Amino acid sequence: MKGARKNEAPPELTTWLALANADWQPSYPFNEPAVRTAVVHSLFFEQRGLCVYCGRGLDLSSPGKSFHIEHFRPQHGANGRSDLEVSHTNLFLSCGQQDQDGNVAQTCGTRKGDWFDEINHVVPNYPDCTGRFKFMLSGHVEAAHADDAAARAMIKQLQLDHPELVKDRETTLALLDADKLDLADFWDVGKQVAESFGHIAYQHCGSSLP
Ligand SMILES: [Zn+2]
Repeated sequence: MKGARKNEAPPELTTWLALANADWQPSYPFNEPAVRTAVVHSLFFEQRGLCVYCGRGLDLSSPGKSFHIEHFRPQHGANGRSDLEVSHTNLFLSCGQQDQDGNVAQTCGTRKGDWFDEINHVVPNYPDCTGRFKFMLSGHVEAAHADDAAARAMIKQLQLDHPELVKDRETTLALLDADKLDLADFWDVGKQVAESFGHIAYQHCGSSLP
């Protein structure tokens, strides 16, 4: 899992949430385009431009196609916590990549849907969450510790071992090991975003993304 380095909520969201009153409660999807845009940009940079789960690069120019806003805990919690809908700490960006036929790959947030296991889950805080997983040169992913049921549950529920992801990770790690890529190729200092699977490249080299 890629995860995010969470910051404060953007001021546009905080100001909008503060408008709540007896007649109006903020809800998802945000009905203010400026608020939604600010949230998406904030999440994008917290995740260094990558899907919070698989670490594929996200394209902000095609919302709804290459990515969507993801609620880590289902937005309508069983305990009635409506704040999960609009709470910045519960919001992330997930890929929603489409193939040539327009079908969305069944991984990450698309696959997860409203699944959530209160005991067996891995909170997407980078880099701690990435360390719970072992990325093999074959491209496959396993729990770093065989007894980590939560990591195993996340791999299964998010389909992190989907053949497309396995192929892409294998390619990335092979280029890294052949010195055709180095860590500088995975981090754009100017834009402050990473290339796809940057978190895996950095972990492979014993460090973590800025
Ligand atoms: Zn993904």
